[in-house]
Amino acid sequence: MGIRQIRVNDDPILRKVSRPVENFDAKLFKLLDDMRDTLYDADGCGLAAVQVGMLKRVVVVDVGDGLIELINPEIVESDGVQYEMEGCLSLPGKSGITVRPKTVKVRAQNREGKWCLYKGEDLKARAFCHEIDHLDGHLYIERLAPEEVVERIRRESGKID
Ligand code: ZN
Repeated sequence: MGIRQIRVNDDPILRKVSRPVENFDAKLFKLLDDMRDTLYDADGCGLAAVQVGMLKRVVVVDVGDGLIELINPEIVESDGVQYEMEGCLSLPGKSGITVRPKTVKVRAQNREGKWCLYKGEDLKARAFCHEIDHLDGHLYIERLAPEEVVERIRRESGKID
């Protein structure tokens, strides 16, 4: 087990842009393995390397159907819109309704360096977007839905708090 410390709140590293991975070596494999362990330990559904203090374009995602490792990921297609509750392991205790595409296609390398295409819908699309945002220093709080949308969702769900 290699659980790394998750950077939180106003840690300045969370605002930095991560660098592309060029070497697919033992160091990368160790980072990926530690990120997996850290993700599961924290009970999250996604983690970017910057969140454990590494400015590398590496992401792990697991929305309940298995671990996906994304290296140098980019969103190549997105469609539709969704407004759902989102949180972040780096902003503990907080959440908010964001605007995200309903579906995305992501191109990324796997740990062997092979380029693959991944499709995400609903929660998986949110997770892909959220984690890829981290690689450019963006947090979900920059993607919050407009107040009138949040109000409408609250009314429709009948759970006004
Ligand atoms: Zn996050």
